[in-house]
Amino acid sequence: MSIAPHSACAFSRCIRESKLVTRASPMTKPQPKPWIAQIHAYVPGKSKSASGQPLTKLSANENPLGSSPAALAALAGEHNPADYPDPDARALREKIAEVHGLDPDRIVCGTGSGELLHCAVQALAGPGDEVACSRYSFSLYPLLAHKVGATAVLAADADYAASVDNLLAAVTERTKVVLLDNPNNPVGTLLPPSEVARLHAGLPSDVLLVVDEAYGEYVDPALQQAAFALAAHHENVLVSRTFSKAYGLASERVGWVTGAPHLIDLVNRLRGAFNVSVSGQKAALAALSDQAFVAASRAHNAAERARFAAAIAALGNRGLSTSPSEANFLLVHFDGAVSAAQALEALSDAGYAVRHLPSQGLPNSLRITIGKSEDMARVIAALRTLCGEAA
Ligand SMILES: *Cc1c(COP(=O)(O)O)cnc(C)c1O
Repeated sequence: MSIAPHSACAFSRCIRESKLVTRASPMTKPQPKPWIAQIHAYVPGKSKSASGQPLTKLSANENPLGSSPAALAALAGEHNPADYPDPDARALREKIAEVHGLDPDRIVCGTGSGELLHCAVQALAGPGDEVACSRYSFSLYPLLAHKVGATAVLAADADYAASVDNLLAAVTERTKVVLLDNPNNPVGTLLPPSEVARLHAGLPSDVLLVVDEAYGEYVDPALQQAAFALAAHHENVLVSRTFSKAYGLASERVGWVTGAPHLIDLVNRLRGAFNVSVSGQKAALAALSDQAFVAASRAHNAAERARFAAAIAALGNRGLSTSPSEANFLLVHFDGAVSAAQALEALSDAGYAVRHLPSQGLPNSLRITIGKSEDMARVIAALRTLCGEAA
């Protein structure tokens, strides 16, 4: 909807003279909107055991290799904390554009990609509208819909992965946004470019498709450009990326989206004015120039993920299995005598926090981040012991 100039005026200002206002029903305290009253805060990954012992976190998909030395050097450099950051993150957008072959004017940076996903949903959906995503996808997605008063519609999965047919079948007259994390969290499955293109082709042109590539850098580089091309050529596609995962800068809170100019304009209107800190902009800029660190993170992840998957496969006779993952974690299923809850406890006793997601309908699974080699060896040993095998 475009706002006519005169109505824009009316809606932006209301000058009221002093007079007695009587209110219909006095409340004792400020009341939230009904849809806000129903939501709960985002639940992050744990880092402490039940007894309060600090645990090694394999619960939040952080980079076990830390951050690029170039980013650390940039963070150690001086800046004047009294100054606001560049509100448009121009240098950072230009570097992102250069690395990915994109147009810097079609990029917006945010306080993590989470801020930008929120802006996209907020711009397009409200009470009475629907936001669709796959049954097993980022736990933030339903929250984004609920925050704006929209309904989150979960499309049935296909063996835990997103199903294009089910997502398309979930679309109604009320659908405004489809959120697709690819690879997906908490499973790690990747829809190939042909399937993402089929999903896009099946959507009405006024439905926004957001392809959330938080784990994009872990994917085969040959497949990494496909969603960008979709966003470059269509009016209803946004692709998001983050510095929180493979770039190892989760604490700096930097993410970005790319898409058509009118979508970029909407996100720009809604994002925070100085939403990426000076240190975040500097660290992300430096991290982009160290692609060797990203490649090393991808290689470490691929090797350790394969080793972990093989170790779980070897416990197949005990009911353990994994879903295929292209991300920096594995979802391990426990369908035998050992339950996910028991494994959660055993891993906690061994010093590791992993993610149990019964609230997402996964009571028999644990999402385990691929950590350092020595930590993965200990996790494997703890699971083998729990299953009654020699560690
Ligand atoms: C981790 C993650 C993000 C990243 O969020 P930031 O706000 O950029 O830290 C986005 N989407 C998914 C699916 C994730 O798992």
